[in-house]
Amino acid sequence: MDIFKNILLYFGIPTAIIGFIVWLIQQLISSKADNRSLKLQNDSLKEEKSQAIVTLQRTIDKYAIENAEFKEKLAKYTNRDIILARYEFIPSLGIFKHKSDNSSFCHKCLIEKTLESPLKSEMNGWRCSVCDSFYSNPNYRPPEQKPQKYNPFDF
Ligand SMILES: [Zn+2]
Repeated sequence: MDIFKNILLYFGIPTAIIGFIVWLIQQLISSKADNRSLKLQNDSLKEEKSQAIVTLQRTIDKYAIENAEFKEKLAKYTNRDIILARYEFIPSLGIFKHKSDNSSFCHKCLIEKTLESPLKSEMNGWRCSVCDSFYSNPNYRPPEQKPQKYNPFDF
């Protein structure tokens, strides 16, 4: 028993030192492991952050496109309203008359393309020089043809 006690006393201090060194190494390893895990966590957060930025940028781009489309539509409608306000529709003729000088304009061009296309007068109506639509004049009466007298002696 005494021998064991003596051995313990003899080896006690070096064992404690070795124990301390072992503990130190364990701490170092575990701190390295912590560092590695933190690094992985950091990388994963960086990846999440860059994906969030990409998603955000896509959303911004999408809304920018939508905004531009809405602006274009709004400008078109506003422009169309301003143009249409200059005209009066004549239901009996199916054409538009300009409010300022009563000149005739193509209904189809104005409604479908917001295009102010003046009509050219023809004998029995009006024709569009752009889309070639013809609007007949309901008030047109063809000239009466005088019946030719038959003269058998007339050569
Ligand atoms: Zn037309």
